[in-house]
Amino acid sequence: MINVAIDGPAGAGKSTIARAASKRLGFIYVDTGALYRAVALDAARNGVLNDKDGLVKMLESTDVSLKFDENGNQCVILNGEDVSPQIRTPEISMGASKVSSIPEVRAFLLDLQRSIAAKNDVIMDGRDIGSVVLPNAQVKIFLTASPEKRAERRYKELIEKGESVMYEDVLADVNQRDYQDSHREIAPMRPCADSVIADTSDLTLDESIELIIKIIKGEE
Ligand code: C5P
Repeated sequence: MINVAIDGPAGAGKSTIARAASKRLGFIYVDTGALYRAVALDAARNGVLNDKDGLVKMLESTDVSLKFDENGNQCVILNGEDVSPQIRTPEISMGASKVSSIPEVRAFLLDLQRSIAAKNDVIMDGRDIGSVVLPNAQVKIFLTASPEKRAERRYKELIEKGESVMYEDVLADVNQRDYQDSHREIAPMRPCADSVIADTSDLTLDESIELIIKIIKGEE
């Protein structure tokens, strides 16, 4: 199996780029952030988002899995319900960042991620894929862009979805999530020694996809 790990901060374009590259290469694209988001949604529904002990207890009855349709698109199933649209709100983004610092949550999601990569050619994106989840991945990429560029892209995405948000708030969220994700004790977001760094600040989406495919093919 070929395993490609793509890590990097929120809004670097990981999911869009990894999805497009996976289609071109015939790989399955796995968005691991969706798993943390599903746990955050379950915690929010159970009123334990700010209650670590309650949240850890909740995990005993939480069931998260991924399904892939015939086009390779990922759906996230939480306790039997497809929650793919519900996990894409700013509240759940922040909640996911929060729950992801709890070691029990990371351990809870680890086997699921590894078992998908063991059975399929995958491009898996997240924060700790190259460092923790798939340390033996054949290709590791750290995909990044400046905070301003990332906030600009997230802002446009949210506006297109009809959310009413302010650019300044999106930028503040990006900075706060970067800080939380890179300063947590467990599995902090950082490039691995063997990652190729790809900065997409000044690249178009198509250029970014080409760059990633070249890196995967070993041409860059
Ligand atoms: O990538 P996405 O924005 O959907 O991720 C949501 C949150 O989940 C991130 O801010 C991060 O805290 C967490 N996450 C993680 N490890 C991963 C993927 C996501 O800690 N592999």
